Amino acid sequence: MKKYGIIGGTFDPIHYGHLMISEIIREEMGLEKVIFIPTGNPPHKNDILSADIRFEMTNIATKSNKYFTVSDIESKKKFVSYSVDTVTELSRIIDGKLYFIIGSDTLFQLKTWKKFEELAKKVEFVVAMRPSYMSTKLLELELNYLSFKYQAKINVVEIPLYEISSTLIRSRLALGESVKYLIPDELIEFIEEKGLYKTNGKSKK
Ligand code: ATP
Repeated sequence: MKKYGIIGGTFDPIHYGHLMISEIIREEMGLEKVIFIPTGNPPHKNDILSADIRFEMTNIATKSNKYFTVSDIESKKKFVSYSVDTVTELSRIIDGKLYFIIGSDTLFQLKTWKKFEELAKKVEFVVAMRPSYMSTKLLELELNYLSFKYQAKINVVEIPLYEISSTLIRSRLALGESVKYLIPDELIEFIEEKGLYKTNGKSKK
């Protein structure tokens, strides 16, 4: 059975941290493709860029990798989707097993996700483990808890520590600082062309 990775995020904007973990996990787990899924926009929430623009930026940033693709399954909706619903919808069109990629910080939130038990039956998780991000003991405890309580299947892949975030990119752009080597050049061009992230903190566009 073919394996497909999925990685969801606000991607406001997508950066080399997202791209790097996806590529390492794709190779390590033998995935056919990694599908990037930018989230939709919560109604009345204007502190993130529009879903359409985040979708477009994700397309630009992933274009050079033939194993990467972008889905508008969440961004085209007018509300924020729950992962369990996204996965159910995706399973109807993808013939293969889904591997849900998360950062190590997200691992500890999984049990609070809507219908986590149902989600855990539909996918395997892959945690992008940053070295010395947390104690191995804590991680093991959480992994044991999730697999015992929900029969969740969780793979752990070690990735290099690359401490960047979309928050950092937004604040550098707002201050007019360089984001070269933090996001792809084509994405920098797009952001400049459209004049995005010019205000400090989160953009209102
Ligand atoms: P923000 O700064 O706006 O909160 P972010 O950079 O954390 O954004 P998200 O879109 O929220 O980006 O992240 C999607 C997923 O990517 C999350 O599971 C997160 O843990 C993971 N991730 C983000 N940045 C990194 C990084 N530098 N290294 C490893 N994983 C990362």
